[in-house]
Amino acid sequence: MTDLLAKTADFVDIESVSFAEAPFVDWLERDLKTLPHLEVTRIGDNLVARTSWGFPQRLVLAGHTDTVPVNDNGTARIDGDTLYGVGSADMKGGLAVFHEIAHLVRPESDHEPTVDLSFVFYAREEVALEHSGLSELIEAHPDLLAGDCVILGEPTDGHVEAGCQGTMRVRVHFLGKRAHTARPWMGSNAIHRAAPLLAALADHKPREPVIDGCHFIESIQAVRLEGGHAGNVVPDSAVVTIHHRYAPDQTDAEAEAAFLKWIGANIDPDRGDTIEVIDRAPCCPPSLDHPLLAALAAAGRQKSAKLGWTDVARFAQLGIPATNFGPGDPTVAHTQNEHLHRNSIERTYAALIELVTTPVA
Ligand SMILES: [Zn+2]
Repeated sequence: MTDLLAKTADFVDIESVSFAEAPFVDWLERDLKTLPHLEVTRIGDNLVARTSWGFPQRLVLAGHTDTVPVNDNGTARIDGDTLYGVGSADMKGGLAVFHEIAHLVRPESDHEPTVDLSFVFYAREEVALEHSGLSELIEAHPDLLAGDCVILGEPTDGHVEAGCQGTMRVRVHFLGKRAHTARPWMGSNAIHRAAPLLAALADHKPREPVIDGCHFIESIQAVRLEGGHAGNVVPDSAVVTIHHRYAPDQTDAEAEAAFLKWIGANIDPDRGDTIEVIDRAPCCPPSLDHPLLAALAAAGRQKSAKLGWTDVARFAQLGIPATNFGPGDPTVAHTQNEHLHRNSIERTYAALIELVTTPVA
């Protein structure tokens, strides 16, 4: 069997910081094009390789090729059963697993497939969403992403981290009236007017729905407070920026409406207070009732809710159930000490090989 840790080390050594993935993608493209059972399409620096064996189910294995900037950790180093280097966990370990499956799983081999496979390697995930290579693919060729479900190889240490929470950010503007602080009754202090909302934020008890056995925990947090002009002026404006993460037991529209209503109860539009939505990203339900994802979550494997946001939500928007499942400890991602243990990648690989070679229930 291929040494997957060594394969990941080779991938780490081909530097692929966001916007500079091309050499790595060139290598992947050349390599995958040597496999006659794959049809390989390149769009920009994104690569899709698909089988066409004619099985009723198609599993999409997806992952980003970029890493965060190198921080004295651009060269792979293996120490015992641990690989150190940028991207080792996030997520070249996952890509190495997919690459191995792309090579080994084919009819009349030791790894007879039971599903069709699509491998999606996309660029620029570690930067602002507007640059996303996945968006480029969705716009140019959504048909290439078609499938029955998606496994996104982000680091979860071989556990199923199902779905993801949606997120939205708003700026709440409070209006007041300027005055001299010697005569505050002549004005209206906008910072003071924000107090009921701040108190409600501090007291807020998050919802914790359990969906498909996964415990989600929502959050509503003030992340920025602005206001004030000078040390002797009653301020006429204050702005509270709030970040909300919501669970996927509701639609994005329902979550947004409920959140805006909650804020609305703590502001006074009649006095000019307004709510401005500054960004949002959709949620993704765990979908562990899908036969392939159910099989992945079975076998005593640990499953939990993904509380952060990942690209699984992009696939959910295309109507494809998706989950996070990959090698590597997510808490070391983006750190200088980023590393990957052999056990983590071998467990993940074994689970995926079993999934794609076992008849679908
Ligand atoms: Zn990642």
